[in-house]
Amino acid sequence: MEIKQSKVAVVRCDSYEPDKVQDAIREAVLLLGGFDHIFEGETAIEAFGKNAEILLKPNMLYRAAPEKAITTHPEVFRAVGALLKEEGYNNLAYGDSPGSPVPGMVKTAETCGIKAAADELNIRPGEFEHGTEIAYPKGRAAKHFVLCNEVVKVTGADGKDSAGIIINLCKMKTHQLERITGAVKNTFGCICGINKTASHAKFQSPEHFARMLADLNCVVRPTLHIMDGIVAMEGNGPGSGDPRPMYAILASTDPVALDAVFCRLIYLDPQLVATNTACMEAGVGTWDEEHIEILLGGVPMQREGAVITEDELEIKYAAKDFNVQRGKDFRGELRMMRYFRSFIEKKPVIIASKCIGCGICEQTCPLEDKAITILQSGEARIAAYDYSKCIKCYCCQEMCPKQAITIKKSLLSKVIDRRWKV
Ligand code: SF4
Ligand code: SF4
Repeated sequence: MEIKQSKVAVVRCDSYEPDKVQDAIREAVLLLGGFDHIFEGETAIEAFGKNAEILLKPNMLYRAAPEKAITTHPEVFRAVGALLKEEGYNNLAYGDSPGSPVPGMVKTAETCGIKAAADELNIRPGEFEHGTEIAYPKGRAAKHFVLCNEVVKVTGADGKDSAGIIINLCKMKTHQLERITGAVKNTFGCICGINKTASHAKFQSPEHFARMLADLNCVVRPTLHIMDGIVAMEGNGPGSGDPRPMYAILASTDPVALDAVFCRLIYLDPQLVATNTACMEAGVGTWDEEHIEILLGGVPMQREGAVITEDELEIKYAAKDFNVQRGKDFRGELRMMRYFRSFIEKKPVIIASKCIGCGICEQTCPLEDKAITILQSGEARIAAYDYSKCIKCYCCQEMCPKQAITIKKSLLSKVIDRRWKV
């Protein structure tokens, strides 16, 4: 298969001050040729011109304040909306299907700060509460998806003419199942409501889940991906980790290349990220450094058309100590270790002092016979696992609003991780 050359813009931005964010995103978009150039060739843009709908798809995992770094920062959302309007694109909508269907998309957007920014710019909420089943017979893992209706309308995934395009506004974060969540994984929020939970039960391993995401990216195909890496999340992501300033805005038309550059910034081998390899196999994009041209922002560093050196990228942006899973999978020289999987595997555990017994973890667990339940302990309610049922999908950890679930590794697993660091 011929691999196309992909470009990723990386622009420094050291705070969420509105002007700084807007300047950084403007520069990133210009490095890629500007909005008009990026949207060229899109059927909806050709048909409707600047009246085509542009759907902004931020990460709104659940109701969380922007400073927690769980969701796309509203200033990134605002800047993209304002820049599009400046260029004459006025038919803007936004939306995401949060991890939990309650209390709904708009309420979630309110807490994340996205709604206020959207109202100010007259960006309407899209129809994300209801979905339509879309067949995808070519899928290697998934043959159909239930997509939110706004996504169906914009992409024309139901076979009708597409009404517009999607801009993916993802967040730079770690992820327990897939190591990172970036551009590729952010499209998961195009799947409607509880169908996302069902996907976790169906596609259980990181590789299988990644192949489903690759199929999804073939159906949804956002035109542009902009990553909020000004303050990223490291450690126990995507919902319970620690904010980590990375001072970067990344942008690309290739979600795999963008995620691969994110990997490079945090010293994670992109081949260890199953979403990268599955998406490259499916033709979504490339993680291969040789086929990625990085365009650095900042006037003194910019040399048009030149591939930047590793030093330039490292000095300005990289973080060797970023807390992410770098241990190898049980392949190659580690193949034999698979037989000791039960001694090696990590597992979610409850931090009793933080748990408030809200039951969100139990509702989120995709298994019919739940692997986590709420127990009454005197006056208190607390979550408890039945590990014999648990499939280690980490949905409970992802959705816990109190960061009361952490991931525990066995001693043997820690030793292996240290020995085979990449
Ligand atoms: S672990 Fe988290 S989600 Fe589950 S009951 Fe406790 S606080 Fe709620
Ligand atoms: S208990 Fe948590 S990790 Fe285990 S299957 Fe349920 S949601 Fe997934």
